[in-house]
Amino acid sequence: MAKKATPKQTAKKETAPAPAKPAASKKQATVDNDSPEAKLRILYQIQQTDSQIDKLRAVRGELPLEVRDLEDEIQGLKTRISNFQGEVKDVEANIAKRKIDINMASTAVKKYTDQQKNVKNNREYDSLSKEIEYQNLEIELAEKRVKEYTVQLKERKGMLDDAKKLLADRTEDLELKKKELDEIVSETSKEEKALEKKSENLQKFIDDRMLIAYKKVRQNARNGLAVVTVERDACGGCFNKIPPQRQLDIALSKKIIVCEYCGRILVDKSFSY
Ligand SMILES: [Zn+2]
Repeated sequence: MAKKATPKQTAKKETAPAPAKPAASKKQATVDNDSPEAKLRILYQIQQTDSQIDKLRAVRGELPLEVRDLEDEIQGLKTRISNFQGEVKDVEANIAKRKIDINMASTAVKKYTDQQKNVKNNREYDSLSKEIEYQNLEIELAEKRVKEYTVQLKERKGMLDDAKKLLADRTEDLELKKKELDEIVSETSKEEKALEKKSENLQKFIDDRMLIAYKKVRQNARNGLAVVTVERDACGGCFNKIPPQRQLDIALSKKIIVCEYCGRILVDKSFSY
């Protein structure tokens, strides 16, 4: 039996936020927790945590859409089935009506044939013969219609069966999707709560003004990124170039510097290590 490799990274301790990651220790051995750099690092950690939450929510966001699509399709199939059922009923009614016509005409033929036995002259006999001939034509026509309707009926019933089968399949798909959704929701909501708690704890170390600014930028940014690193001399959020002097200021981490194009807070690339 192979031992299961359990990734235990989810159960990370979240007591004191470690603003001073090893990478930061090149300048000072001990990092002042109130220094601008420490604040920026915490803010960056908040961003990382919030981005993870965003990702979880995005994953969860797709499934409800798939469920809704399936529900729409099922609704459409139900309408189609009820239409087919209506058509089947109509065709069956037509067949029944023609069969009544055939019965009536047959009765008439029988009646006229009996009458022919008691006619007084040829003219009466011929007139009855014409009547019989006419009724027989009616019977023939009705039988032809019955045949046509029977073909139609078979066709409609086939379409109805197909739609019913498809409905059964889709209903099964829907059940599976719903189950999958429930599982993902319960799985991710636990993880999400832990991350939310982590973000909240980190936020305690940041002053309100900074936090409000962070939240405002995050809300307006399409990808939810308010704190980004400098990537290839450009803002990691909007990709506009950052002048060299500004990049140096960012690297020093002495104050909050925002991108002049998108307003995102810029931090040094080393923060992401
Ligand atoms: Zn930018």
